Amino acid sequence: MSDLVLVINAGSSSLKYSLVDAASGDAMATGLVERIGESGSSQLHHGPNGEFHGDEPIATHEEALRTAIDAFATYGPSLGGTDLAAVGHRVVHGGARFSTPTLVDDALVAEVGELIPLAPLHNPANLEGIEVARRLFPDVPHVAVFDTAFHQTLPPYAYTYAAPFEWSRDHGIRRYGFHGTSHSFVSRLVAQMLGRHPGEVNLIVLHLGNGCSATAVRGGRSVDTSMGLTPLEGLVMGTRSGDIDPAIHGHLARELGWSIDEIDRVLNSESGLKGLTGDNDFREVLRRRDAGDVRAQLGFEVYCYRIRKYIGAYYAVLGTVDAVVFTAGVGQHSAEVRAASLQGLESLGISIDAGRNSEASGTGGVVSADDSRVAVLVVATNEEWEIARQALQIVRA
Ligand code: ADP
Repeated sequence: MSDLVLVINAGSSSLKYSLVDAASGDAMATGLVERIGESGSSQLHHGPNGEFHGDEPIATHEEALRTAIDAFATYGPSLGGTDLAAVGHRVVHGGARFSTPTLVDDALVAEVGELIPLAPLHNPANLEGIEVARRLFPDVPHVAVFDTAFHQTLPPYAYTYAAPFEWSRDHGIRRYGFHGTSHSFVSRLVAQMLGRHPGEVNLIVLHLGNGCSATAVRGGRSVDTSMGLTPLEGLVMGTRSGDIDPAIHGHLARELGWSIDEIDRVLNSESGLKGLTGDNDFREVLRRRDAGDVRAQLGFEVYCYRIRKYIGAYYAVLGTVDAVVFTAGVGQHSAEVRAASLQGLESLGISIDAGRNSEASGTGGVVSADDSRVAVLVVATNEEWEIARQALQIVRA
């Protein structure tokens, strides 16, 4: 039997997929269908026999997956001739119910449906992806892998908000955390790089992509994380504010007459780097900062200062830290962000080597100075491989 897993990440108007060898992590093919059900649909498929770009209208997720299957047939590898071990689905919110990857059946679909109020933008799209893929691959086991699952080990005092007790008891309002597949993948990889068992190492993992989150990992388990009930809390992100004073909501409503939906939209889509600088692409922020743009400089400083505060907080949470780890687009590629975030932390035993730091962008590796008590590492995350690996584990269990 093969180790090939088709990994599916269904968004509200997009479908991202990857055919992954769960043993080696190799992606045999990847693809993305965008603007499903909107004007200007586009399709991209990279396979062993070439690359395909399509711009035919695609009305539904079912059509998107059928188009992807056609692209597999032409540009490889043909799924008809492939012995798929599983289909692994990324599901954003597993609530308090799912702490492990889970085989998809009708009961799971119903339970993920019940969690929609906690993730109204993400879970319906993830479910649509599951339903469509089950119809098109009825003979292959499907596994749901939850973004929240890795953080189900948080202790109650870390996941409970200091609000009326009934909020959590009756409505599930608590910290769940996200990016769990990335934090889990990176934690295991770093333990390997340090030559130690995951159960022996304490890490502060910084996932800095379009969304950003920090996690305190004690002995391989997440004990605190910066995202909360939703992926809005915590670090400064591309378009999300991260932490703000919750009273700002009331202030905006009273003083500016904004609706709750408008406040929600602005904090999720018009804030963060985009709100501060006008750009959510970090490369553009860096370019403008280098050219002396004052707003880009402020955006950069707010972004890095917030990271430094979380490092301090999670250092205190963990007591001892073996490594600080940077991953995802910004974390892997921006030496400037790594240097600025760790500035002045030498008394905590964290110091980076400027040469190693600038060389590590892209390739990754150890960037701490030889006398740094805490290792600083740059690693490439691979959420698709982690989903494939977890899916295969469930299927083979
Ligand atoms: P996602 O969270 O969507 O998976 P990524 O992990 O790809 O996103 O991260 C996207 C972010 O990484 C963008 O802000 C992008 O500008 C930034 N990024 C990518 N390459 C670089 C680079 N060379 N230097 C700085 N930032 C980069």
